[in-house]
Amino acid sequence: MALDLSAVSSSENVWQMAQQQLDDVARLIGLNESMHGFLREPKRILEVSVPVRMDSGTTKIFKGFRVQHNMSRGPTKGGIRFHPDVTLDEVKALAMWMTWKCALVNIPFGGAKGGVICDPRTMSMQELENLTRRFTSEISIIIGPEKDIPAPDVYTTPQIMAWIMDTYSMQKGYSVPGVVTGKPVAIGGSLGRDKATARGCLYVVDEAMQTLGLTIEGARVAVQGFGNAGMYAAELMSQRGYSIVAVTDSKGGVANPKGLDVAGIMAHKAETGSVVGFTGGDRINNKDVLEYDCDVLVPAALEKVITKENAPRIRAKIVAEAANGPTMPDADVILFERGIMVLPDILANAGGVSVSYFEWVQDLQENFWEEDEINERLKRKMVRAFKETYDQAKRHSIDMRRGAYSVAVARVAEATKLRGLYP
Ligand code: GLU
Repeated sequence: MALDLSAVSSSENVWQMAQQQLDDVARLIGLNESMHGFLREPKRILEVSVPVRMDSGTTKIFKGFRVQHNMSRGPTKGGIRFHPDVTLDEVKALAMWMTWKCALVNIPFGGAKGGVICDPRTMSMQELENLTRRFTSEISIIIGPEKDIPAPDVYTTPQIMAWIMDTYSMQKGYSVPGVVTGKPVAIGGSLGRDKATARGCLYVVDEAMQTLGLTIEGARVAVQGFGNAGMYAAELMSQRGYSIVAVTDSKGGVANPKGLDVAGIMAHKAETGSVVGFTGGDRINNKDVLEYDCDVLVPAALEKVITKENAPRIRAKIVAEAANGPTMPDADVILFERGIMVLPDILANAGGVSVSYFEWVQDLQENFWEEDEINERLKRKMVRAFKETYDQAKRHSIDMRRGAYSVAVARVAEATKLRGLYP
């Protein structure tokens, strides 16, 4: 398998980008045409209109989506995103990425994703609850513990998962904790789920550092995004001995080549709502953080931030994609040529869905595990997925994304083939 650079073109649309990544790997692994065509499209798309009573007394109509990409390996799984820029194409891409992610870490799920076009930063708790409950009710025809299991994603929280669980349960007439993951522990959530995305990311970065012969102690890390993934990645990595030199959130951020006090930044964010204004460093914006001098770059915000324009200027040796889809296909080629190891999203952020799987298993069994057992199981999954990806990439002289994709897509194709075509 050789890298065909002519096949890689810039794609502005995130859904085209996801399809392009698949097309690329389909060629590499010699996927047959009908299987490729099958995997290239989502199985099911639901678009809903969500009327919400606002605090002002008026009713506002929001638009929401749930996309199920593939269910050959099990029920579909994936988060729900609340963001003003959500589009159907974005949700389709995110659903497809969930299919590959679940296959790569070898959990028995297919991929799905949901999204509502809204800005939760400008909504009250009551309005968010109304929105969540009505959206849940609208998509309840296709979700369920044996069908499709939502979870948190950008701007959705454990409290929002609790409302989803409650709404679905009220419709059924009994508690159904397994319908959603990322719930608070008090109602059937799993210990360790809150930090699982970040912890999984830490485990694969540790593996990459060791593989490349780099020293963890004092290695400099820049993080774009300070939500669930980015904030806990900064926290866990600094506890591990990495030096966090730059962090930003959607409003901007702070940088210091000598290292930042992550606990201080977390307290500042909890108090003011942003990392901006923290006094332990210089101001930095959301773009410059990507080019900051560091060993490990963790994009942990939104898609398409690493482009062919800034890829030549990225100084990290490892890029760990805590976000979904941060690197565009043409930027991938540049990073690979420059010898930068990209830990792709379907590997680097798969810790979240892995512990979601543990949560679902615990809910179905009504038997809950200790946190150290969960973290241990997570570590085994992540290390194995890293090794399988790395071996594949080395064997075929391809980048880590193609390595991960070829493992994952082959697993989904095998399951699809074994099940055969109905009727
Ligand atoms: N939204 C997360 C992701 O993109 C978690 C999904 C889940 O736990 O189901 O992987």
